[in-house]
Amino acid sequence: MILPIVAYGDPVLKKQGTDITKDYPNFDTLLSNMFETMYNACGVGLAAPQIGLPIRVFLVDTAPFSEDDDLSQEEQETLRGFKRVFINARILKEEGDAWAFSEGCLSIPDIREDVFRKPKITVEYLDENFNKHTEVFEGLIARVIQHEYDHIEGILFTDKLSSLKKRLIKGKLTNISKGNISVDYKMRFPNQKKKR
Ligand SMILES: [Zn+2]
Repeated sequence: MILPIVAYGDPVLKKQGTDITKDYPNFDTLLSNMFETMYNACGVGLAAPQIGLPIRVFLVDTAPFSEDDDLSQEEQETLRGFKRVFINARILKEEGDAWAFSEGCLSIPDIREDVFRKPKITVEYLDENFNKHTEVFEGLIARVIQHEYDHIEGILFTDKLSSLKKRLIKGKLTNISKGNISVDYKMRFPNQKKKR
């Protein structure tokens, strides 16, 4: 089932997510709904707060990035095969010189801005079977994980922009929260006027 994606301005996007346990109700259904919702919106990641749940769960599937011709064949194949569920994730370490990448977000349609992040991360998480892993990720995969991880910490990529950039996009963000935007997937807008 495709779920509506929560738009910028909704308080749930500002909440720090809570850990979950194996007996979280209907968890398999939740995961399959989240994957369906992400693919329907052509996203490479989706975090639970974006469908209104302040819990520490997010998905990543970097396959759409693999089409980039600037990447080596090896990089393309790595991105194509990377599909993962992260539960109760903690980033233990971030290393290297921060690099810029133009990020977007399904909760903030039509805005893309350069965000600086470190290229190499160590993450501790549970997979969909609640098995624990500690893994190192780099490059674009690390980038997507960092973006989604921020969601479960209540942080959006627009929070990381300079105050000048923030001022420049303020009007656009207000419009998004009011639903004054055309978007081709289902969304829920916090400040939309009720239709009479
Ligand atoms: Zn996002």
